[in-house]
Amino acid sequence: MQKDMIVGVVGAGTMGSGIAQVAAQAGHSVVLFDTRQEALDSSKQGLAKVLDRLVEKGKLTAEASAAIQGRFTYATDLKAFAKSGLMIEAIVEDLAIKQKLFLDLEAIVGKDAVLATNTSSLSVTAIAGGCKVPDRVIGLHFFNPAPLLPLVEVVPGLATDPRHAAACVALLKDWGKTPVLAKDTPGFIVNRVARPFYGEALRIYEEGIADMATIDHAMKTLGGFKMGPFELMDLIGNDVNFAVTSTVFKAFFYDPRYRPCFTQQRMVEAGWLGRKSGKGYYSYANGAVQPEAANDSVLHKAIVDRIILMLINEAVDAFYLGVADRKDLDLAMTKGVNYPKGLLAWAEEIGFSPCLAALERLQAEYGEDRYRPSPLLRKLVREGATSV
Ligand code: NAD
Repeated sequence: MQKDMIVGVVGAGTMGSGIAQVAAQAGHSVVLFDTRQEALDSSKQGLAKVLDRLVEKGKLTAEASAAIQGRFTYATDLKAFAKSGLMIEAIVEDLAIKQKLFLDLEAIVGKDAVLATNTSSLSVTAIAGGCKVPDRVIGLHFFNPAPLLPLVEVVPGLATDPRHAAACVALLKDWGKTPVLAKDTPGFIVNRVARPFYGEALRIYEEGIADMATIDHAMKTLGGFKMGPFELMDLIGNDVNFAVTSTVFKAFFYDPRYRPCFTQQRMVEAGWLGRKSGKGYYSYANGAVQPEAANDSVLHKAIVDRIILMLINEAVDAFYLGVADRKDLDLAMTKGVNYPKGLLAWAEEIGFSPCLAALERLQAEYGEDRYRPSPLLRKLVREGATSV
């Protein structure tokens, strides 16, 4: 994958536009396609605006900005991809529609082209399964906003040729990204390991242990997270967050650890989607008075410990099940979702024994499989290990 390789991007929405910008800024010619001309127009205007701002801030010269925009071709005919060496698909999250697109692309691109999907919740193997040549299909999961967030999960499907994964990792590093390798399992790394950040916070709220403002406050001040779970859900959109949770739950064949919460479902049903609808867990109306956090340091610590414990258990289990290696698991959470620390490093800092004991207490108290400790955590404690 050389600098002169043409990168094709399908879907000029939020992700496609961002990914196309990243590729063009790295020096590639980019072909950006969408079925809707309005999407292409608004993507083009959006890019000009973003680059203008970078020029104003002195981060980019006017010449560089013009060169980046000059590398773009906007297309409404898939045939424009005939010379693309790497295709990145970022269209609607629908398996049948993605499979159809990949089949169409196979008939257009050259035999050496790699076909990547930016899916966040579908199986890469399933998308590849609909192709005639599945070994060149791979997942490249960028995070939103793609030009700003360094993490990209590289997800080979069952049939993917490992050489393509290695080439994508090298290319992404060239682009200044932080690629991590993830197994093709539901949620890959981030969307799996991060589930308890939302789910356990909702559970603590539903049990009446603390209100949302208190949970958010504790997670920021004591936990060191940039945003609290409820603030973050409001930013992501409760509809989007609930959909990801529901998809992951189903994809894990209804493992109770990933069970969605009624609280969030009701928010979606009410249309209280968060910032974008003006109301979510918090009100975003002008002059709205925000709820205050309870001033109770013992409560704050209990909340933070419980959520972090569940995150650690998830990360340890993901490592145990070979979802990613140690380095990539911690990188994914610090670079993809800005966690203050990698979760495996965090577990080592706390010690495996206190983590296991606390999880066992929760499991005994609730009698729920949700709190079952990862078998690896038990093993590490048994062996007296101090690192994963
Ligand atoms: P979006 O709705 O902003 O954009 C999708 C674009 O694809 C639209 O412009 C639409 O016109 C176009 N499109 C739809 N069907 C098409 C088709 N058959 N052929 C060509 N174009 C088509 O969506 P998005 O948020 O950019 O998400 C795109 C993909 O990226 C999804 O698979 C999503 O799961 C994934 N993703 C999204 C995020 C995120 O935070 N938004 C993060 C990571 C991954």
